[in-house]
Amino acid sequence: MKKIDTPQELMESRYEAFKRMDGEYLAKTTTQKISSDMSGYENIEWLKLDVLDAKDDEVEFKAYYRDNGIVEVLHERSKFVKVDDEWLYDSGVLFNTKIQRNEICPCGSGRKYKKCCA
Ligand SMILES: [Zn+2]
Repeated sequence: MKKIDTPQELMESRYEAFKRMDGEYLAKTTTQKISSDMSGYENIEWLKLDVLDAKDDEVEFKAYYRDNGIVEVLHERSKFVKVDDEWLYDSGVLFNTKIQRNEICPCGSGRKYKKCCA
């Protein structure tokens, strides 16, 4: 596996792990004691990741996903820590962000969100 040099790279690799339901990778790249069980995620289709800001030990991102036909956004500012020379996800603050009704739908259709996956 590629060596992770920055919090942003770790964040992106964890997003890819969510996509492939790799609970083991997610469990071993965080300081939190979490289970590698991915139940509850099997119906989620991850569509797109936008990194908004990345500096020092923080990364702010929006991750778009489809759950039961509805496309929604997860907007988080994550904090990372370096432990034994490896970056780990530590914690995150969630923003109460909604996709705007007139935005282009994140699913890639080119239509307005309100007329697509809202
Ligand atoms: Zn759509």
